[in-house]
Amino acid sequence: MLLLEGGLVYDHDGDTDRPARADILIEGNRILAVAPALRQATADPNHPLHGRIAPDVTVVDASDRLVIPGFVNAHYHSHDTLLKGFFETIPLELWGLLALPPSFPRRSKRELRARTLIGAVECLYGGITTVQDMDRVHPFDAGDIDAVLEAYDEIGIRCIFAPHLTERSLIDATSFWAQTIPKEEQWRISGPSGPLFPPGTDIAKVVFDYIRPRRDRYARITFGVGPSSPERLSRATIEALADAARSEELPFYIHLNESRSMAVHGLKRLPEFGGSYVSYLKDCGALGPRSSLAHSVWITDQEIEIFLETGTTAALNPVGNLKTRSGVAPFRKLVEAGVNIGLGSDNCSCSDAQNMFQAMKMFCSLAAVTDVLPGAPIATDAMRAACLGGAKPAGLDKDLGHIRPGMLADLVLLDLADPSFVPFNSAARQLVFTEAGRGVRTVIVDGRVLLDDRKLTTIDERALREEILDIMVEFNRDAAQISDRIMPISAGIIEAVRRSWDEPLPIHRYIGH
Ligand SMILES: [Zn+2]
Repeated sequence: MLLLEGGLVYDHDGDTDRPARADILIEGNRILAVAPALRQATADPNHPLHGRIAPDVTVVDASDRLVIPGFVNAHYHSHDTLLKGFFETIPLELWGLLALPPSFPRRSKRELRARTLIGAVECLYGGITTVQDMDRVHPFDAGDIDAVLEAYDEIGIRCIFAPHLTERSLIDATSFWAQTIPKEEQWRISGPSGPLFPPGTDIAKVVFDYIRPRRDRYARITFGVGPSSPERLSRATIEALADAARSEELPFYIHLNESRSMAVHGLKRLPEFGGSYVSYLKDCGALGPRSSLAHSVWITDQEIEIFLETGTTAALNPVGNLKTRSGVAPFRKLVEAGVNIGLGSDNCSCSDAQNMFQAMKMFCSLAAVTDVLPGAPIATDAMRAACLGGAKPAGLDKDLGHIRPGMLADLVLLDLADPSFVPFNSAARQLVFTEAGRGVRTVIVDGRVLLDDRKLTTIDERALREEILDIMVEFNRDAAQISDRIMPISAGIIEAVRRSWDEPLPIHRYIGH
């Protein structure tokens, strides 16, 4: 039992500038009570919680702390945590070939564990208590994926795990590559491990055969499906995954129109759906309250209507979209329409920080590139998106995102003595516009303190650092070989991006033109 005494407790529906002071009593993995001066109040024999505070309760003095619900990182990939700082801002399509697991040889279980842990460590230091990890283990191997899940279980962060799935060759799935990359050089696109699955595999069956026996194995890990994007899998596979996800009540995660060339791809391939991958996914039965479409940068007003009508979530990643030169999603339109919005930090080598404070600030600030008049999204919208938006498609919105009795105890304590909060004028605005993560002192997940006054309690961080140094010797060698293989076709990849620019689209997601 844990008692956090006297903190300012952030409530999305309360005073978001000056939150009320309250104690938070945690029993097991859930919040039992949120009220002022609980020890004194429950001394009264008539109090409903009289006698419930255990004599050996651990008391945390939170009087100089702002307590917020833990962030739910709505779109994250742990597979490239070792590549942070490798790349300047480069177009998405080139970055993907240099950075993503299909380009690499199969990784060791030791590396899978280490990469998962260092990503989770960075998340915890930034107050992220849940990650939606669309992780690529390439090729698909149950033992390798288990190594990732074991790492999550070890560190204790909450994870909504969705194996990242691809099926089609990138040549078919990417605008203009077949024309701009010479035939004799196209071998360079494929990595040494071949495709994720052998041709002809029933992907939905393999994925659900993997997930089913593990659904109740880990206390803090839930599952979803993660087809990479509508252009990278066949319609039959997307329908099968969506069907199975619906009947098993699992969330469905997919990337959508992140770059302009992805939107152009839809325009060419889907005349019967007006060129819209959103309409296509709806027709596949893949949209609904349990579906989350990552990025959604290049979407039209009509497509926003489909999000609304189906209850689909947009998982926005403003920092990653800038680093991969993909443009700015229509934040204001999405907020004003009432679409459920999650915020994510995306890949560790395309953002390059697992930091929801950065994502929140960008989410609010970038709206200025489209609208001069003040308005949405404002700081409280960003806090809702960061705490609640990502929980909804996972079916966890009754458990996460608010600090209320009965909810899971996933909490973050920020230091009000940090200069970011001195003077203390507005909790919401200082969280979004001032704080960058430095003030995060204590992080609680599932009722357990994982970060205790900025010290990790579940893993040996120094040992992890040393192990990663060792792993980087081979990793750097592999990354250099990939660069040697890909850079000779980089001009063709850039030319494909340029050609997609020549294609007319009814929407604009860049400024300065
Ligand atoms: Zn992504």
